[in-house]
Amino acid sequence: MISAVGRACVATEGELAVTDRAYGGNSEGPDDHLGARDDDTWDTEAEVTCPYCGEGVTIGLDPGGGPAQTYVEDCQVCCQPWRVHVTYDERGVARVWVDVA
Ligand SMILES: [Zn+2]
Repeated sequence: MISAVGRACVATEGELAVTDRAYGGNSEGPDDHLGARDDDTWDTEAEVTCPYCGEGVTIGLDPGGGPAQTYVEDCQVCCQPWRVHVTYDERGVARVWVDVA
């Protein structure tokens, strides 16, 4: 009886491990596919003018963050914090502006 319980336990663990691995593979696939699609149609970078030092700086955008985003990012030239505003139109064209945070 004891050995039977031990066997059942091992079998269950093995099953869980396999299920876990298959699940991880499945969830990776759709994410990859969506990511590739977003890169094709949504802008992933934009040039903005720093409100502190006046330099033109190209920043990376994350379309996965949604059609309207606001976040804080430091200027790559003078390291002052910007408040970055991003909106996407229906064609995935980004409109980006920054002001002082
Ligand atoms: Zn700056």
